Amino acid sequence: MTKSEKINLIGLDNVSLTELVAKWGHKPFRAKQLINWIHQKGKSDFSNMTNLANDFRSHLTEYSVIATPKVITKQVSSDGTIKWLFDVQNNNAIETVYIPEDDRGTLCISSQAGCTVACRFCSTGHQGFNRNLSTSEIIGQVWWARDEIKKSLNTDSGFEAEDDRVITNVVFMGMGEPLLNYDQVLPAIKLLIDQNAYGLSKRRVTVSTSGVIPFMDKLSQDCPVALAVSLHAPNDELRDQLIPLNKKYPLRELMDACNRYIDFAPRDFITFEYIMLDGVNDTDAHAKQLIDICREVKSKVNLIPFNPFPESGLRRSSHERVRAFSAILNGAGIVATTRKTRGDDIDAACGQLAGDIKDKSKISELMRKRKSIPIKKETL
Ligand code: SAH
Ligand code: SF4
Repeated sequence: MTKSEKINLIGLDNVSLTELVAKWGHKPFRAKQLINWIHQKGKSDFSNMTNLANDFRSHLTEYSVIATPKVITKQVSSDGTIKWLFDVQNNNAIETVYIPEDDRGTLCISSQAGCTVACRFCSTGHQGFNRNLSTSEIIGQVWWARDEIKKSLNTDSGFEAEDDRVITNVVFMGMGEPLLNYDQVLPAIKLLIDQNAYGLSKRRVTVSTSGVIPFMDKLSQDCPVALAVSLHAPNDELRDQLIPLNKKYPLRELMDACNRYIDFAPRDFITFEYIMLDGVNDTDAHAKQLIDICREVKSKVNLIPFNPFPESGLRRSSHERVRAFSAILNGAGIVATTRKTRGDDIDAACGQLAGDIKDKSKISELMRKRKSIPIKKETL
């Protein structure tokens, strides 16, 4: 193996790293030690890994690296939200967002360079698709963000932040459809919940999906973390127009898949995400249809103010409309919360993440054409 083919250890979960270490003729517990150094202690230099024998450290240096994608820019919003733009090669860039709140710190990570699902209301969807991210690129966002946040805390407060709890929650709500990159996303999830790595509980890791049913089922068996389903429309006719994937996995099947997932989920409900689009999906009649769905699937609804971007041709529902919509749901006993928009001033809000994608598909071209097709209003 040449030096240019060094293995990046950051993307290996416990099973894969144990296999590799065994292949190198070392004991399985060395994998645990390595995971601990890399992910819990945040080290990337083998010479710091003091409980590893010298010959093992030399071997590691010769054959492996610990590398995250490189940061291109970092922006900090007036509300404390941080957005990083990472280089993922060949002129593609992805985005990661940190949202600090009083009682938690949420990191929103990307799983693909672009997205193939092409949702009408999503900035990433309008860009088309380049490729899946590797596990190293996915978990590398978490490694890098935590390292930077910890360092900035140390500088600001003058003492060394002992704990890694600056990131308490990780959500796959950045660029891409995580369940269409399942093989690379799963080891990243495993590292997030590994006690030796990031040690998050399954409730604090959320996969958000536009509804890729076969992989919802697979996740429920392999590693059932919290699930958010991007619903955005309460009937197939409208959902087909907003999320083209609905034609393949329509609502009835999606609801059944949600009910199957709940049996394994760390929480006994699914979160339904519902972007409020002025005059499109936000009428009282839509709210009533949504109630019917929520009566069939144990769920909480997260109403999301639409974050506009120039090519969308869509508008955000007014505060009054969101309140009225929410009140109808609440009146029927359904828990509905409205998401606070964060990081507006740096375009870090949901659906505004655009990075820089060299579209290999025809999606961006198609989306430009589709923009001129109005959404049919008789979708009730
Ligand atoms: N592909 C996955 C996860 C990434 S999108 C999914 O679709 O669920 C993460 C969330 O951002 C989804 O709920 C998505 O619908 C929402 N979103 C996309 N575009 C948005 C926009 N313009 N304004 C507000 N939320 C948006
Ligand atoms: Fe892809 Fe999610 Fe955006 Fe739809 S909302 S285009 S699935 S990233």
